[in-house]
Amino acid sequence: MKKLLFLLLIPVLGCQPNNKTSLDTTQLIEDLRFISSDATEGRRTGTEGNRIAREYLITRFQEEGAEPFQDSYTHEFTFENRRTQEEMSGVNVIAQIDGKTDSMIVITAHYDHLGVRDSLIFNGADDDASGTAALLAMADYFAKEQPNHTLIFAAFDAEEMGLQGARAFVEDSVLLSKVKLNINMDMISNNDSSEIYAAGTYHYPETKPILESIDTAGLRLLFGHDTPDLGYNDWTFSSDHGPFHSKGVPFVYFGVEDHENYHKATDEFETIPQEFYKSSVQLILNAILAFDEQ
Ligand SMILES: [Zn+2]
Repeated sequence: MKKLLFLLLIPVLGCQPNNKTSLDTTQLIEDLRFISSDATEGRRTGTEGNRIAREYLITRFQEEGAEPFQDSYTHEFTFENRRTQEEMSGVNVIAQIDGKTDSMIVITAHYDHLGVRDSLIFNGADDDASGTAALLAMADYFAKEQPNHTLIFAAFDAEEMGLQGARAFVEDSVLLSKVKLNINMDMISNNDSSEIYAAGTYHYPETKPILESIDTAGLRLLFGHDTPDLGYNDWTFSSDHGPFHSKGVPFVYFGVEDHENYHKATDEFETIPQEFYKSSVQLILNAILAFDEQ
């Protein structure tokens, strides 16, 4: 009888690796589709479309079981509009999944985009619905696989107005002292050479061997775009990782090379190569898992 029980257990144990949590790519594409749809009208900060996107993110974080950050998913901030000098407000959407320690990895993307111009909706599918939908996919994954570090999932607002959501976030110095790393995703879904960059290793060389060790999900992971001699092609302050870097918090920024749809109305769901996008989110998840082991 004992022998029989043992034999019966073997197939059950043998199945376990297949039950490992994996990225829900079907949901990822659905989230990308909604966030970059005409319903959110380009998500410009302060607009109704931006609010619709925000409500969607809150609902999705709740569904995935990610907790509100500091008792709330929404974090309002004010800033001065650089063009008009008027005072504006934005709202970050932030969720968290507790790890085994309170040392934090902050994963970021921006949900705002350019809005409507000359009655054209700028859907910003790559910029940065792609990173925002990836945040939701990461939250889904880590709700099922508890991380070592406490993970903060921050969907920032007003990036397009000067990285304002990220600037507001890094003002909390007590919080920031617990942050070990920022992983920023901005434009991670569109490249026709299967290439994506991890920028920041010039400033934080200790991150490079970890990135070199990961499974890149069939893509080519490139380094660079982070040295001062590059001028406009130095991406050190090009997106929300900039304010983290200014405060001395190490960052890795994942993003693709600029493309023909960048800041154009054609940056929409239909122009996203979905297989590349799924691989890119898998690659970034692999990187987060590797950093979480450190
Ligand atoms: Zn962007």
